[in-house]
Amino acid sequence: MKEPVDCPKCGAQFEFETFPLFTQAEKILDLTAFRAVCPSCGAELMFPYPCIYHDAASHVMVRFIPRGFDLSDLPADVPVPQPGDSLRDVYSVHRFREKLLIFQHGLDDRAIELLKILTVQQNPERFDVQDPDVLLLAAVEPDALSFFALAKDGNDFMLKTPVGLYEQMCRELSAPCFELSGDFETVDAQWVFDHFHLLES
Ligand SMILES: [Zn+2]
Repeated sequence: MKEPVDCPKCGAQFEFETFPLFTQAEKILDLTAFRAVCPSCGAELMFPYPCIYHDAASHVMVRFIPRGFDLSDLPADVPVPQPGDSLRDVYSVHRFREKLLIFQHGLDDRAIELLKILTVQQNPERFDVQDPDVLLLAAVEPDALSFFALAKDGNDFMLKTPVGLYEQMCRELSAPCFELSGDFETVDAQWVFDHFHLLES
């Protein structure tokens, strides 16, 4: 579907192609699904829009609801989730990309969030400990996970953690209180905090 958009730099209006449903991850992983170049001034722009990623073979469905939109803005004609599907909601393109990367590699997003919290808390001199969102999964290698990291001083860098640490996080999350509801959920640092609270109470 082609939609008119306005360039925030020069004000020119042009057409931008949106897709309500993605069954392939590529355009989201490289973010080309949301990128545009203004034909008038050449500015490189991002236009996040509500859409759904559905991988039937891997039983994954992710709903992307960018800031300023709500559930009613999602495409109406989408596949019906099946029992056992991993159902997630995300609110930023970078989170969208990260979620797909996690599922593509067969990783557990709860464990990734816990790993982020632990990493941030273990490095209070580098990170704002209140904000585990300073880490985003960037790449998955056989023996390590790489994160885009944003330090307190505003510098970004790559941070590598051994896969063994991720596996340890998976074991931490085996308690019943960490089970997912089976409905769409936002699995982020807050999700982990909320469920740890259940464990303690
Ligand atoms: Zn422009």
